[in-house]
Amino acid sequence: MITRKSRDQIALMRRAGKVVAEMHEECIRAAKPGVTTLDIDAVAREVLERRGAQSNFLNYHGFPAVVCTSPNNVIVHGIPSDQVVLEEGDILSIDCGAIIEGWHGDAAVTIPVGDVDDESKRLIEVTRASLEAAIDLVVEGSRLGDVGAAVEDVAVGAGFTVVREYVGHGIGTAMHEEPQVPNYGPAGRGLRLRDGLVLAIEPMVNAGGPETEVRADGWTVVTRDGRRSAHFEHTIAVTEHGPEVLTLPW
Ligand code: MG
Ligand code: MG
Repeated sequence: MITRKSRDQIALMRRAGKVVAEMHEECIRAAKPGVTTLDIDAVAREVLERRGAQSNFLNYHGFPAVVCTSPNNVIVHGIPSDQVVLEEGDILSIDCGAIIEGWHGDAAVTIPVGDVDDESKRLIEVTRASLEAAIDLVVEGSRLGDVGAAVEDVAVGAGFTVVREYVGHGIGTAMHEEPQVPNYGPAGRGLRLRDGLVLAIEPMVNAGGPETEVRADGWTVVTRDGRRSAHFEHTIAVTEHGPEVLTLPW
């Protein structure tokens, strides 16, 4: 079932989104060489506690943390660990979520750790740009295929590939609601967007091939060819005034 949210409901989602944004700000500040991904999780937990928000990641199908931390060749769903120490030159995706009064926010950002190589910089910028192109189309009358095609055009146009096995989603009183939001087209097809629809759009863009694998822990999704991947996500409402990003700023 696809639900449309009222103005009051979107206001609660905006509050959840602000908590997610604050988690990101503090996690980004903490993500320096020598820090572990479990340290990043601890920073995010403090923000949730301070804001009186609940975690939508913790215990989700048994997930053990409040953020996903996905370095380098990890695409998504990396588990924070005291064994994963960030190094100069890494890139790191940090995916955060929060619940306020039963309403969810979900967003992700990929950042460089210290100075990174040129391809990694470009991968991050292109993935961010692919999300921005998609956000521009989160308006009444667009179709879901238009949103996916916008991501794909930017990513593939830059010589990268788009992950197809994992997609964005509707979001509201659950983190994952219908519809699924693929990061590929075709344009002109799929659900027509209407006022009150709220989507989490989350392009995952690979430097090499699009193929994925899941590690033995059952969570960690990696690129099959071992090359790097970037991931950006925002929670966005369709409003009569256009797209409203509920999880700004990162
Ligand atoms: Mg997310
Ligand atoms: Mg999501």
